[in-house]
Amino acid sequence: MSKRGQLVIYSGPSGVGKGTLLGPLLATEPGLVLSVSATTRAPREGEVDGVHYHFICREEFERLIAGGEMLEYTEYNGNYYGTPKKFVEQRLDAGYHVVLEIEVDGAMQVHRLCPDALMIFVMPPSFEELRHRLVTRGTESPEQCAGRLAAAVREISFAAQYDFIVINDEIETARQQLLCAIGAGKMLSRIQ
Ligand code: 5GP
Repeated sequence: MSKRGQLVIYSGPSGVGKGTLLGPLLATEPGLVLSVSATTRAPREGEVDGVHYHFICREEFERLIAGGEMLEYTEYNGNYYGTPKKFVEQRLDAGYHVVLEIEVDGAMQVHRLCPDALMIFVMPPSFEELRHRLVTRGTESPEQCAGRLAAAVREISFAAQYDFIVINDEIETARQQLLCAIGAGKMLSRIQ
C-alpha cells in the first residue's frame, strides 16, 4: 500500500451498538483497522488489555498527555480516554484506513486537526431504546447508566456536525449504511 489512508471518526452514545456494527466490517475489510484507545477505566469482564483498550493508570495517562503522545483525549464519566498518536500515524502512512471509535469531544479535537477525516455518527432509533440497550447490557451500575444517558443527550446534539448518520435500528440495515458511509469516504479521499 502506498497512498495515505483515510481517517474515520466513529461516534455515538454509549450502548448504541457501535462495536456490534463495526466488528464484522473490521473482520472482512483488511484495509480497515481500529485504533486501540488508552483509558483509565477498569476493564469490563472479557475485555483484554491491548485489544479492547490499553488499560493504564491516571499517572501514566497524564505522562502520555504531557509527552504529546495523544492525538486527542477527554475525560468521560470520571475516566480518561484517548487515542495514542503513533499507531494512527503509522497505519495511515502505510495506507490503512483507521477508525477512531471516540466520543464527541475527542471527535471535534480530531476534526480540527484533520478536517478531511470522515465523520460517522451512530444514532439510536429512540432515547427509550438506548436506555433499554444500556440497562440490559448490564455492564454498568445504575448510577453509571444514568451518567452515560445524560452524556448521550449531549452527544446526540453533535450528530449534525458529522458527515453521515447511521441509525442503528435493524442491525443488518445499519451495517449496510455503515459500509456505504465508509465506502463513500474512501471514494472521496481518492477524488481529493
Ligand atoms: P466505554 O467506557 O463504553 O468503552 O467508552 C465510553 C465512551 O468513550 C464511548 O463513547 C467511546 O466511544 C469513547 N471512547 C473510547 N475511546 C476513546 C478515545 O480514545 N477518545 C475519546 N475521546 N473517546 C473514546
